[in-house]
Amino acid sequence: MQRFRGLIDSMTQTISEKTELGNYFIANYPPFSFWKPGHLEAAAQTLNSPAKIPTPLGLYVHIPFCRKRCKFCYFRVYTDKNARDVDSYLDALLREISLYAQAPVRSGRELKFIYFGGGTPSYLSVAQLEKLFHGIRDSFSIKNAGEATFECEPGTLQQHKLAALRELGVTRLSLGVENFSDEVLEENGRAHHSQEIFRAYSWARDLGFPQINIDLIAGMIGDSEANWHDCLKKTIELAPDCVTIYQLELPFNTVFSKEMLMAGQPDPKRVADWPTKRKWMRDAFETLQAAGYQVSSGYTLVKDKSKVKFVYRDELWHGADMFGTGVASFGHMQGIHLQNVDGWEAYLEKLAKGELPLGRALPIAPAQQRVRELILQLKTGHILPAEFDAKFGGSLLNDFQEQWKSLENTGMAAVAPEGIQLSLDGLLQVDRLLPRFFEPQFHSQRYT
Ligand code: SF4
Repeated sequence: MQRFRGLIDSMTQTISEKTELGNYFIANYPPFSFWKPGHLEAAAQTLNSPAKIPTPLGLYVHIPFCRKRCKFCYFRVYTDKNARDVDSYLDALLREISLYAQAPVRSGRELKFIYFGGGTPSYLSVAQLEKLFHGIRDSFSIKNAGEATFECEPGTLQQHKLAALRELGVTRLSLGVENFSDEVLEENGRAHHSQEIFRAYSWARDLGFPQINIDLIAGMIGDSEANWHDCLKKTIELAPDCVTIYQLELPFNTVFSKEMLMAGQPDPKRVADWPTKRKWMRDAFETLQAAGYQVSSGYTLVKDKSKVKFVYRDELWHGADMFGTGVASFGHMQGIHLQNVDGWEAYLEKLAKGELPLGRALPIAPAQQRVRELILQLKTGHILPAEFDAKFGGSLLNDFQEQWKSLENTGMAAVAPEGIQLSLDGLLQVDRLLPRFFEPQFHSQRYT
């Protein structure tokens, strides 16, 4: 899932400790509610000119199909499409990728990373995967890209599909495990069971994928502390290269939120509050660190930081360009945010006419680029002011004095000219710390 598009409903999040309905995760800046179709002309000009900013280039490919809708899911996914629909979608997607490959802004640039997200990319059959990868290869070199990440739902994997993915050039396999308890998985509407996790993981290891990531969610409905600790134990036994953990949030358009709205408010007996989720996150971070993992961001731990890289995340958080392809996908190109149209028909129709399916955009000023990278890089837990200032000018420490003071006073960060370091407390709630860095015109505004 293109997690970096995460949403939040208000810049003035109350510090409620209950899990209220609404978004928590901050993914981008300025807020999505300021992205408009009126900026598409500026986007077209940028795409039709050679790149002026020398920054790495990536490709995001959105596969919006899932076997079943998870009850906490707020992404653009379809569970009712047949094989012919999937084929039409892949044709449109490949047309879009080829349009970008020919765009002047791409001229002379190769991909540094590719990310297949969803939805469920592993929903595709081997024949469909071959069609997709071979089609992309007609436009871009996958082999020369440093990283090709592929998101998988364990229950959709068979040994021969994983072998095909390895053969097609996937370097980083990301397994949406979320939890190891069948009861919790079922209660949250996941399509897979624990047995399928172990089976898929063992095939993937045998096939020698360079990097395997496991996604977990802290605070799934029906989870308990004892079960969460058991999930951590099982994760450590599997020994993935990378573990990514999100805290469950309940945006308005999820099945859970709708059920809870009908019932009144979230049931505190079923929905873990934020302190509980943070405690479980802390337990996870401490347990994984004790098992030799290293913290790589507020959500991610890796076995060996010097070897286990996540190029997609690191490049995006440092201002890389990325073509976002597929229905409703997000991208960024030379200082302009881009999002595709958010509808099946509209997406297919635009590509049938040979047009890029862009729906809205936002050119961002250098000062906004600076805030954007500041908040994204804070998610790693540390920033070197000298390095940051060398890129953007100004003084990170002086220009945000008030914000740093508030973080220091609450024990969320230690701030010094040699480095800004979030405490573990700060890191585990980094998303709620970020709005204070937003420019005044984006305070108290809708985020999406
Ligand atoms: S697998 Fe579940 S959470 Fe992931 S995109 Fe599909 S429905 Fe959403």
